[in-house]
Formats: sequence, structure tokens, C-alpha cells
Amino acid sequence: MTGAPTLATTCAALPPAGAVACDPAKPASRLNVAPTLATACAALPPAGAVACDPAKPASRLEMPDASDPGQSPWELYICRACGLIYDERKGDADSGLAAGTRFADIPDDWACPLCGVTKSDFEPYVMEASARSSGRNGQVRKAAGRRDAGTVIVGAGRAGWQMAEALRARDASMPITMVTSCNGDVYDKPMLSVAMARGVTPGKLARETGSAAASRLNVRLLENTQAVRITPANRQLRTTRGTLRYRQLVLAHGAESRLPQQFPPSLCWRINHLQAYTKFRSLLGNTPQRIAVVGAGLIGCELANDLALAGHAVTLIDIATRPLAASLSEAQSRQLLEAWAPLPIVFIGGVQVRAIRSADDAGSKQLITQCGQIFTVDHIVVAAGLQTPNRLASGAGLVWNNGIAVDAGTLATSQAHIYALGDCISVNGQVSRFIEPIGRQAKAMAAHMVGDAATPYQHTPVPLRIKTTSLPFSL
Ligand SMILES: Cc1cc2nc3c(=O)[nH]c(=O)nc-3n(C[C@H](O)[C@H](O)[C@H](O)COP(=O)(O)OP(=O)(O)OC[C@H]3O[C@@H](n4cnc5c(N)ncnc54)[C@H](O)[C@@H]3O)c2cc1C
Repeated sequence: MTGAPTLATTCAALPPAGAVACDPAKPASRLNVAPTLATACAALPPAGAVACDPAKPASRLEMPDASDPGQSPWELYICRACGLIYDERKGDADSGLAAGTRFADIPDDWACPLCGVTKSDFEPYVMEASARSSGRNGQVRKAAGRRDAGTVIVGAGRAGWQMAEALRARDASMPITMVTSCNGDVYDKPMLSVAMARGVTPGKLARETGSAAASRLNVRLLENTQAVRITPANRQLRTTRGTLRYRQLVLAHGAESRLPQQFPPSLCWRINHLQAYTKFRSLLGNTPQRIAVVGAGLIGCELANDLALAGHAVTLIDIATRPLAASLSEAQSRQLLEAWAPLPIVFIGGVQVRAIRSADDAGSKQLITQCGQIFTVDHIVVAAGLQTPNRLASGAGLVWNNGIAVDAGTLATSQAHIYALGDCISVNGQVSRFIEPIGRQAKAMAAHMVGDAATPYQHTPVPLRIKTTSLPFSL
């Protein structure tokens, strides 16, 4: 039998070591979950520690020392798992690499400061020859008419900005407009689930403001603006700030966290963007809180781990009887539970949430399971998977196959002049919601869009690093 286990079967199943199973023999028991606060905070790195500065378009030809022209230029290396760029010129203070440390001199067991894969998962990173400095045309061409927005990119996440970088590298003068519902700040989303362990405050997560990135790349940024409808027949995009006429349209609007209907949005957090994360962290303050994390997949487990390391009392709930059941073996799930033993995490397996309600005027919430258990907590974080919103795509008549269906080599959608990349797409029905492919998608697509010869995008498996920092896994 495949699919999610039913309550009847999972409740009866034995929980793995360290887990707490749903106990149908105790209907309506009240668990005011407040596991003891562990001392794991002592293991945190010093506040303010940050990962090395990724994906800045530092030139590969920058010389180490003008007075020593004999030295070879600084090189950049990209992590194939998360897209972090190691810049030899800057080193990585966070992981003990001084500025000027050559990649060749880094020990083999050095781990990516963002996602933790090892040195062998890095490869040389070559910036496209920048059209900005190539003199192809130093000035951004004016859009043809008042409403002609040139190439329009929807979304300012990793995919949106990588697309802007890749297009600008190929064409210095193409007018580019970026429409995004967020403020456009550039940040590494994988950091959201490890920021506390790394001692990084939300204010330090943005690497560059949206407006600074926009001016660096000569992009017109319409931040806090929602794209609402595409009309391919006349190449128009309606937004909450007016209608734009596009020459080419790039959909990079990502996926959204699923919120099953029993979870009222006003009572639940979903951590999929920096803005929500920043609000969540400011609400947590410095006092340990009782937090229920619903969903023990990749994001749920990483968040639970990080929150517990910061001293919060976490109840991690899943319909499966063990954490990361879809990714780890039973033995690995057990090891993870053992690694969590000193932390204030309680894993409750084999349960399904029936309802959520407010518990009192002080903001407590209650989470009620199908078998009648009640958990009273301060916050509920739902990590029940991602889904691509299909409103824009279906309005435009784009072929949909578990996401916006794109051509496997060019990432063109089924409508002329519309492309898509990142978390919102599917290639042959498969989604791949990871950082690493996005840069390659952007490069292949940009070449195709400007008519340059290019190697088609090729989808290759991404090395998966589960950033449960108490016990990380590489798969
Ligand atoms: C907590 C967490 C940890 C992760 N860890 C890892 C990891 O370790 N390794 C890894 O490879 N991947 C990881 N991922 C996944 C990775 O971060 C994503 O695959 C990647 O960031 C997706 O980028 P994107 O630009 O496609 O989408 P997003 O980052 O979601 O960007 C979408 C953009 O579109 C905008 N937008 C959405 N709808 C509209 C609209 N209608 N109109 C205008 N703008 C819109 C949004 O505001 C946003 O700017 C993690 C994800 C999370 C949430």
C-alpha cells in the first residue's frame, strides 16, 4: 500500500525510540507540552556569525594583489547543493577560512557553510562575460512605449534574481521589469531553517536590498506588487499596480506552503519567505515559547531542530510514525531522534490534526488530533509541503503538469514568449524545489531568450543535505 498512512494503522504502529506515539486509549487528554529546556544553546556559534557572501558577481579576473601580478586570479566555486558561492578573495570567516584561502587549500572535510555538503560538491563557478562591461550597449534601452515593460520577471526570489543576472550578463540594454509581491530583498532561503543555530538574526539575512540589486542590474523593480492575470494574446500582465505590456515574460513566482483546510491561516505560521520568518522571529522574542511544528519533512524537521536549539519547547507532529519518513531509513530516523534527546523536542508520530482553535485571550492555541489529544501551544508552524499556485498559469492557458510545464531544455512554457523557472515549474511532471538547478535554468533560458547558442538545460539530481544541525544527513 502506498500513500500516507491512515490513523488506524499508524496509531497501532510502534513508535521509534524517543518518539511519542498517539495513544487512542487516552482520548481528549490534555498535553500542555512544555519539554524541559535543554542546554543546547551553549553550542550555538557567536551571535552575528554569517555565511560567506554568496552569489555576488565578483569578477573571476580580479587579481589577488596588484603588486604581485604573478599570482593567479581569485576563483569562485559554487555549491551544487545550495548555490552558495565560495569566493577565494573573501574566504569564509564563519567556517574558519581566512580571506585569500585558495579553494585547493581547503581541507576535504570542509562543509558548505550554508547547507553542509562537503568540498567535493563544489565546482568552479564562471560568471558569464558581463554584457554590462562588454560594451555591447552600456545604456539600458528605453522601453518602447509607456506601458512596454520589456522583459518582465514575476518574482524576486532566487529564480527571479538569477534570471535578471543572467539576462543582464547577456544583454546590457534590454529593459527588464521585475514584479514581486515581496520587497525584493536578496537572501538565501535555506538559511531560514538554520539561522538560529548559526546565530544569525533575521536582519542579517538579506544580502542586498531589492532596490540595491535593481539598481546594480538596471532593473525596474515593482516591489510589493502582485501579478494577477496574464493575457498572452496581447502580451499583457495585470498587476495590483497597473497593467504592463511585456516582450517576454518570465514566471519565477515560486511555490507556496500548503495549508490544509483545518488550519486557519490566522492561527498558523508558514515559513517560506524572509518576511514571514522575520515577523515570526520578532514574535518569539527572547523568551522560550511552546511551538507546535506540524509536518516532519525536510523543512519541518529543520525548523523544529533550529527552534529547539534556541531553547523553544517544540512538539513536532506528523501523520508518519517517524521523522523524515520519506527521506530517511528507519535507522536514520531513530538516530535523529536520539540526537534530539537532549533538546526540548517531542516527536508525536502517527497522528492527524483535526482542528486548531484559539485557547485564550493571551494568544495560546490548541491543536486537536483526530484521536482526541489536545496540545496547547503559543505558536503553530505548518510545514505540510509546497504547492505551486496555478491562478496565473491557468488564466493564461499554460499547460499544467504538477506545476507550470516547461520545455526540458529551454524552459519555455506552452505559450509563446512566456518562460518559467525555479520552484513553480515542472519538467516532465517532476518538480525540483532546490536552489542548485535555478542558476543553470536561468543561464540556459537567458541564452535562448536573446537568441544566443546555448547548451540546453539538463536536469541532474541534486545532492540533498538535510540541515538538521544536531545530526545532518547527506543523501
Ligand atoms: C526553510 C527552507 C529551507 C530550504 N533549504 C534548502 C536547502 O538546504 N537546499 C536547497 O537546495 N533548497 C532549499 N530550500 C528550497 C529553496 O530555497 C527554493 O527551492 C528556492 O529558494 C526557490 O526559489 P524561487 O525563486 O523559485 O521561489 P521563491 O523564493 O519562493 O520566490 C518566489 C518569489 O515570487 C514572488 N511572488 C509569488 N507570487 C507572486 C505573484 N503573484 N506576483 C508577484 N510576485 C509573486 C514572491 O514574493 C517571491 O519573491 C529551502 C526552502 C525553505 C523554505
